[in-house]
Amino acid sequence: RCLMKYDRIYNFSAGPSILPEEVLESVRDNLMNYEGSGMCVMEMSHRSKVFQKIIDEAEQDLRDLMNIPDNYKVLFIQGGATLQFAMIPMNLMKNGVACYIDTGAWSSKAIKEAKKYGEVIVAASSKDKNYSYIPDCSDLDIPDDADYVYICENETIHGVTWQKLPNTKGKILVSDQSSMFLSKPCNVSDYGMIYGGVQKNIGPAGMVICIVREDLIRDASELPVWVPTYCAYSTHANNGSMYNTPNCWSIYVCGQVFKYLKRIGGLEVMNQRNIDKAKVMYDFLDQSKMFNGTVDKEFRSLMNIPFVTESAELDAEVVAATKAAGFDNLKGHKSVGGLRASIYNAMPKEGVEALVRFLSEFEANYKK
Ligand code: PMP
Repeated sequence: RCLMKYDRIYNFSAGPSILPEEVLESVRDNLMNYEGSGMCVMEMSHRSKVFQKIIDEAEQDLRDLMNIPDNYKVLFIQGGATLQFAMIPMNLMKNGVACYIDTGAWSSKAIKEAKKYGEVIVAASSKDKNYSYIPDCSDLDIPDDADYVYICENETIHGVTWQKLPNTKGKILVSDQSSMFLSKPCNVSDYGMIYGGVQKNIGPAGMVICIVREDLIRDASELPVWVPTYCAYSTHANNGSMYNTPNCWSIYVCGQVFKYLKRIGGLEVMNQRNIDKAKVMYDFLDQSKMFNGTVDKEFRSLMNIPFVTESAELDAEVVAATKAAGFDNLKGHKSVGGLRASIYNAMPKEGVEALVRFLSEFEANYKK
């Protein structure tokens, strides 16, 4: 079994997923009485001074970490990343046309939803090879009236990631960073909007963080009347993400994770750790005769690593063996099968090394 504190196990879940232990400890220590307020953050009015400080600091710490320029709003919204599949076309489609790049399950879902609100042009797709690569997007056919170009920058299920952003021919780029948020430095000015559900790299489920360039935020009065008040970015931007009761608990824990990331030295440090960690897993897969990575090397994700054996039966056997040994959630997504190790920011390198040791032994013993 793994030797983690509190008898915890190595959790390879794709989300909700592992969080830094020192953050969980700090949350525990402040659970009954948050910093002398006499109450838990869960019990606190979102209109209180104490909570206002929590949300203000969370936003500022995120701005510091990502170097977010002043002309971008940071919005904390509920409905997960999924609601953004609808809010993006509702808010950003002025001409009613947008280009989407189809690179896996999550961009496909976004495409399906956007079609409800306007014309969707799939400008490139990697569906032909089961989403195992990122298509060449250096010279896309983008119509003049396209409102934006949309990508999912890290496909959580298929394990592909963008190394070079698409040439959008001057259109704004919208990126779903859910499963890579804060995993490496990011030049926010390259995007019109970045968003991500927080339940992978950042905090408790039930919230999405949207970073939106101010000039793209149209007033609710300029949007079609059928757009729900909650779904207008201006509603959140004009009310400090507190038009209604926000997900206070998630904002608080995310804020603690931002402080943790600042303490360890920021996103450059995190990126190097993620590169080193993923290398352990990929080096293993590259030499293994039993386990094979499913993604073209150039586009491999540092966060989600899908792999397969020769059969679904053996995949299932390995999943059961890993679980019994204290490594959880290695079953691949039901839509693709196989196995998947999600090794987000909070997964220690030792966790990946321990998994690799276990898989190596499994392979060695299996041959005997
Ligand atoms: N986009 C990506 C890349 C995801 O991985 C997920 C969730 N796994 C979503 C969107 C949907 O997120 P949510 O469950 O927060 O709606």
